[in-house]
Amino acid sequence: MKKSLARLADGREIVYFDESGDTVRSTPDPRDLPAFRPSPTVRYDALLDEWVGLADHRQDRTYLPPDDQCPLCPSTAGRPTEIPATSYDVVVFENRFPAFAALPAGPELGEYSDLRRQRGGTGRCEVVCFTADHDSSFSALTPQRVGTVIEAWADRTRTLSALPHVEQVFCFENRGAEIGVTLSHPHGQIYAYPFLTPRTRQMLTAARAYRERTWRDIFADVLAAEQRSEDRVVVSGEHWTAFVPYAARWPLEVHVYPHRQLPDLPSLSGAERAELATVYLDVLRRMEAVFDDTLPYIAAWHQAPVRIDRDLAYLHLQLFSIRRAKGKLKYLAGSESAMGAFVNDVSPEAAARLLRDAG
Ligand SMILES: [Zn+2]
Repeated sequence: MKKSLARLADGREIVYFDESGDTVRSTPDPRDLPAFRPSPTVRYDALLDEWVGLADHRQDRTYLPPDDQCPLCPSTAGRPTEIPATSYDVVVFENRFPAFAALPAGPELGEYSDLRRQRGGTGRCEVVCFTADHDSSFSALTPQRVGTVIEAWADRTRTLSALPHVEQVFCFENRGAEIGVTLSHPHGQIYAYPFLTPRTRQMLTAARAYRERTWRDIFADVLAAEQRSEDRVVVSGEHWTAFVPYAARWPLEVHVYPHRQLPDLPSLSGAERAELATVYLDVLRRMEAVFDDTLPYIAAWHQAPVRIDRDLAYLHLQLFSIRRAKGKLKYLAGSESAMGAFVNDVSPEAAARLLRDAG
């Protein structure tokens, strides 16, 4: 695999991950773009002890353009896109409409009191294109291509973790208009946050309490219990196990754990990366087969915080869909959206059976 760095016309960084070692990336971006000067902020919600990102410039972003206007397709002679190349394997670039971005040094914004705190949304948001083929999908990629995507995620995690102010790096894919995807070209995103996300903080609090009580690792024990009971296991390999969580929140939800504690994707061995590519595809194809329908889903990589609790966190992939039956969606309504209390209409054991039978 060959990695090449370049800049887009407005100064944003673009990184190519090419499967062939001889590919040369030297085509400049011919567009006349305004300078890239995003100004996202974050505000502190004192009631919930959580940070909320504010990025009102994102309201202007491209929304479901026609296929011949896709900004993630390779450029052609008459139509320059975000990728100034006639083809690519995997490419990553800075999001033009970021929720978090590198901000110029200067006086901090806003107010400081117990109740009102606001600061710059320092961080970075990147787009990851999985293939130049507009009509493809992640589940249709070859294991080799998924391997290249994993290398790109690991590279970006390492790079973004080294940026000042970044506390957590999140690689994810939103798939399907029902999830709110604004571009149909197969792609994912990476957020480098200037704070710990609420879910990560909550999981680490539980892991710490469990360790203090038992001297054991909660994630390793959850994995071992699932492997022993087998009720909810969907796919098991030498290095990875995929299972429906005991208290699944979503109609179709699968967690994929490595068989040893690792903080993040860069820590994976070559053998773990190779098997992950096949296990990931296997699980995703089973999920798509259950309802025989275009599956809206979210694929979320849970990685350790950049600076703290590296030995307490446990790398894992969370895959879930809002599809609850063919043609039907689960919406986040009052209990979930207002109270954060999930009610799942499908039993985790039944979901695991459906997924095992879908293979
Ligand atoms: Zn496209």
